[in-house]
Amino acid sequence: LKRLALARVESQRNKQNFNVAVTLIAGLLFFFLLLRQFKIRRALKILAKTDSLTNLANRRAFFANGYSYMERALKEQSELCVLVIDIDNFKQVNDNLGHDVGDKAICYVAELASETMRSRDILARIGGEEFLLVLPHEDSQSALKIAERSRTTVETTQMETIGFITVSIGIATWPTHSNDIDQVYKCADKALYHAKEHGRNRCVVAEPS
Ligand code: GH3
Ligand code: MG
Ligand code: MG
Repeated sequence: LKRLALARVESQRNKQNFNVAVTLIAGLLFFFLLLRQFKIRRALKILAKTDSLTNLANRRAFFANGYSYMERALKEQSELCVLVIDIDNFKQVNDNLGHDVGDKAICYVAELASETMRSRDILARIGGEEFLLVLPHEDSQSALKIAERSRTTVETTQMETIGFITVSIGIATWPTHSNDIDQVYKCADKALYHAKEHGRNRCVVAEPS
């Protein structure tokens, strides 16, 4: 009877150990699945905010963050400049050299614009061959100097298989041109239109509204 009771206790202990092991494995599995799900969600979030061609922020990400840039500038009582950069006669690049080379040109301009940026600046691709650069703590005159530097860099850089291309840049400032980031962007876009009208390959600051 004693041996039988011991065997039963042993069997119960084995069962308990087995249950603990199963629970631990299930817990670990659940933890790894949760971690994987978390990583996938994070990657999807980044993908939704990123332009796949240039790896810059996309239009959606820019406008989702636009208000936080303004709030930061407001707290620090500083200005904020918005630059709209557009490749000139880009349709001709596509027509003459093909869409793939056109894509390469977009990446080149993104790279060149990134090089003139400082860590606090934000660069986004907001359209086909159109980029938006946000320069916190800058007035329109210093933004114009930065824009001129970018424009000259693009103008003087010979790109592989593409040759030379140029960009036009429209500049507007918050809060001088508007209190609303969408409106500042529209003012910069209007200035870009003037740059195109006046012969392209130039930077134009928006008229104060
Ligand atoms: P402008 O100097 O007035 O800006 O003239 P443009 O030819 O650059 O402007 P337009 O808006 O007429 O043409 C833009 C072209 O950009 C048309 C479109 O086919 C092309 N495009 C848009 N997105 C992409 C893209 O992702 N890759 C390539 N290769 N081309 C694109
Ligand atoms: Mg263009
Ligand atoms: Mg355009």
